[in-house]
Amino acid sequence: MNNPIICPQCGRDDMAQKVTGIYETGTATGAFQGRTRPLLGLLPDGVQNLSGSTQTLLSRKLTPPPRPAKTSERLLLLVIVGMIMLVVSEGLLVLVGLLLKFPSLGIGFLGLLVGFLIVGGTVLATLVYTRNHQHTIKAWQDAIAIWERLYYCSRNDCIFDPLTRQSVPTDRMDLLLYGRPKPR
Ligand SMILES: [Zn+2]
Repeated sequence: MNNPIICPQCGRDDMAQKVTGIYETGTATGAFQGRTRPLLGLLPDGVQNLSGSTQTLLSRKLTPPPRPAKTSERLLLLVIVGMIMLVVSEGLLVLVGLLLKFPSLGIGFLGLLVGFLIVGGTVLATLVYTRNHQHTIKAWQDAIAIWERLYYCSRNDCIFDPLTRQSVPTDRMDLLLYGRPKPR
């Protein structure tokens, strides 16, 4: 890089490290060994193999925003709820119509109307949900793009964006990623 990465707080570059690098080196995934302690003296001392990941406190603070959940499951739930509402309300309508001996033409018309309302409502809710979800995905993609260019200065314990020259305390990375406190 031609222009050096300078921390906006101390005006120097010697303590600045890329956030992605700290996050990756601070998160160790692999196999570990741990000594087991004898349980009430009943079991012998031993060595146990463990696997998993461990993270330093700093790298935990610098964790990238998690990818939003997939949209399909919630959409499916929405459609299922709509279908159940449709079946239940049409069934109730027929039942009430039979009990009160309404003319079948009136019941048919009412049933059609209720059906349209529920199907229309479900379609509308699906469209609104899909649009909101696209906004969420876009916000996440923008946040990741910013996260990838952030630096950490250990002198000031701050995170900064070399592009906008904004800096925040280490635990307020959300302000740089979203320009405001984390949504949700
Ligand atoms: Zn600094």
